[in-house]
Amino acid sequence: MTSGAEQARGGIVASVKREWLVLFLLTLVALLAFAAGAVWYAVLPCWLVLVLAVVARRPVVIVTPAPEDREDEEDASPDPLPPIASTLSALDIPVLLLNEEALVLWENKAAEKALGLLPIGSHLSARLRSPGILDMVNETIATGEPNQIEYSERLPSERVYLLRVARIEPADVATEDLFLLSFKDISELRRLDRMRSDFVANASHELRTPLASLRGFIETMQGPARSDDAAKERFLGIMLDQSTRMSRLVDDLLSLSRLELKSHIAPDQSVDLRPVIGHVRDALLPLAEELGVEIRLHLPDEKVEVLGDRDELVEVVENLIENACKYGQEGKFVDVYLRNEPSQPIEVSVLDRGPGIPAEHVPRLTERFYRVSVADSRSKKGTGLGLAIVKHILTRHRARLIVKSELGKGSEFTVRF
Ligand code: ADP
Repeated sequence: MTSGAEQARGGIVASVKREWLVLFLLTLVALLAFAAGAVWYAVLPCWLVLVLAVVARRPVVIVTPAPEDREDEEDASPDPLPPIASTLSALDIPVLLLNEEALVLWENKAAEKALGLLPIGSHLSARLRSPGILDMVNETIATGEPNQIEYSERLPSERVYLLRVARIEPADVATEDLFLLSFKDISELRRLDRMRSDFVANASHELRTPLASLRGFIETMQGPARSDDAAKERFLGIMLDQSTRMSRLVDDLLSLSRLELKSHIAPDQSVDLRPVIGHVRDALLPLAEELGVEIRLHLPDEKVEVLGDRDELVEVVENLIENACKYGQEGKFVDVYLRNEPSQPIEVSVLDRGPGIPAEHVPRLTERFYRVSVADSRSKKGTGLGLAIVKHILTRHRARLIVKSELGKGSEFTVRF
């Protein structure tokens, strides 16, 4: 059976041969005329005009590699490309052109990358086996109405696509109906949705616990403990703790959302880091004394300036030193180093000699509400948002947080500007 590509190739070869024959005859006639005594300035322009006319009539054929010859571009059989394909090839989302039998006529480069090379002429089901997709495509082929469906692939990596199929209006009645199957990658959107709903669930959960406890105490004080002044006094103390915990959480949540709003604006003040660290140490002295920890500063004598927002940098250093005091309490000392070596990035390192952090937790520490131990964090008045805030601030400052920790030896949190 002769394929369309072979017919096209045969047609082109025949037309090129005819063209050479005509050129040869024209030249022969010109030479004869010249030999017969015609003047050259009469023969040459006529010959030139006729040659140009023949060359200009050469057929222009846009070809696409035939399926069976794809691996070998040299031998590629030309197939007429559906006119719409040249436009679609510029799209960066994967698209396939199907015919009325759901055979793949063409795929763009993006589809080739996302789905692999599809044998042209194969049925769509050879690559996409999901019955939902095939039903959707068949329905559109039958009715002409567009359809869409969500489809996820696990391999090679987990991706979620919104697949849409629509009929392309044919240019004229003679051409067959074509259908465009497009793949919109919505994986990132789904991930953000999941993050957002996890975040709301976590935040509500964190608020629900102290709220339930407050309510319980209020009910007890209205009922059984109505006339027990000693119990009331104790309950009021716990209620104060719970409401302080809630306001800390709300403050951290507000802080995070403020940071998110301005995450794309890089700060532009020049801030000396030495007074920032000194100020934080002074502010944390009461906590450090309460925990029996000594905060030791190792600062250079000269100014160490970075482009930043002073209040935000205070928040970063405060979070890191506070964590080192709380979680590294048993190490007794917390050392803070400010380094400004020539041709090295400026660094602030906070080092404790606490129990350290198991390696599997380290990459997740900056996630919202992530704690190595929830009970430990709660007992230390943690919200689980401190390092998430640190990461947001550092992203805005184009700086990085590097965490090194060794079990039994302690942890080192370094900010590299
Ligand atoms: P939290 O409010 O719970 O302190 P953070 O985001 O500041 O929240 O810290 C997240 C978790 O990282 C903490 O709950 C704790 O388990 C762990 N962590 C942070 N800093 C240290 C440290 N210096 N040593 C050991 N664990 C730490």
